[in-house]
Amino acid sequence: MTPTTPGLHHVTAIAGDPQRNADFYVGVLGLRFVKKTVNHDDTGTYHFYFGDGEGTPGTNITFFPWGEDAHGGTFGAGQTQRTAYLVTWDSLDYWTDRLAAHDVAVTRTERFDETVLQFEDPDGTGLELVAADAPADAVPWVDGPVPEAHQLRGFYGVTLAVDEFEPTADILTHVLGYEHEATEDGRRRYRSATGGPGSVVDLVETDLPRGRMGVGSVHHVAFEAVDEAAQRAFREAYKQQGMKPSEIIDRTYFRALYAREPGGVLFELSTPDPGFTVDEDLEELGTSLALPAWLETDRDVIERQLLPFDGPTVPTEE
Ligand code: ZN
Repeated sequence: MTPTTPGLHHVTAIAGDPQRNADFYVGVLGLRFVKKTVNHDDTGTYHFYFGDGEGTPGTNITFFPWGEDAHGGTFGAGQTQRTAYLVTWDSLDYWTDRLAAHDVAVTRTERFDETVLQFEDPDGTGLELVAADAPADAVPWVDGPVPEAHQLRGFYGVTLAVDEFEPTADILTHVLGYEHEATEDGRRRYRSATGGPGSVVDLVETDLPRGRMGVGSVHHVAFEAVDEAAQRAFREAYKQQGMKPSEIIDRTYFRALYAREPGGVLFELSTPDPGFTVDEDLEELGTSLALPAWLETDRDVIERQLLPFDGPTVPTEE
């Protein structure tokens, strides 16, 4: 029997300038910079991970910062429209004020039984803060710029834009263990049958042609596979659906399986283990350039190729 994913593991997007990217996610959104490494498939590019106090799976948004001059993405079908973090109801006013203080334009909307603050990061990546009755297991970052009571509580879900619902919905329901929960204003909501943190996927239909990957686009959405046996089972299930999954790849902090779903979104399935403390102590996460063993001998060359970046600016206004 095919396993069920508990929900999101991470979301990976393309950013422009690395400094601006880190300053926003740490300095404004108050996520912890939990890992500074390079894209293992393109070692001239950083790979940044921002998450909760411990980099718990289901809290981490990650970026490949391509640089200021890289081409922008074009939004369209087959792309992640917005990535949503959960906040408490009591935090909505705090975030409305905080984002305004950082000159971030926010649209407040209601849908289903939740209140949503929609905005974009400095590269145009679509984000949401959602106040809803939903589980969370995020660990506070005690040294962060956002008071613990208002910190982001991990992912709530993602909204995927597709040209028609069914092909993507079939993969969600027949492979990943999602169930259709509700439809409202053309938005179909799916939730993992296990209903844990980050377990919402919304589908919306768009008439736009396939989007183009670039700065401000989400590169892939990663769901959690609880272990490698689950990953192998998902891989077989993908093949039965006619998809072409990758091999299972060691990404140092997790093992990853990739497959593009028929609507065009690149899905990953990632294990929670071994996690970000495999090569750095919890206290030291994100403070040095972490490289896997097979790249360590090229460290000097790799460091010289990377864009200027001084580490995130953490304001101390609170
Ligand atoms: Zn990934």
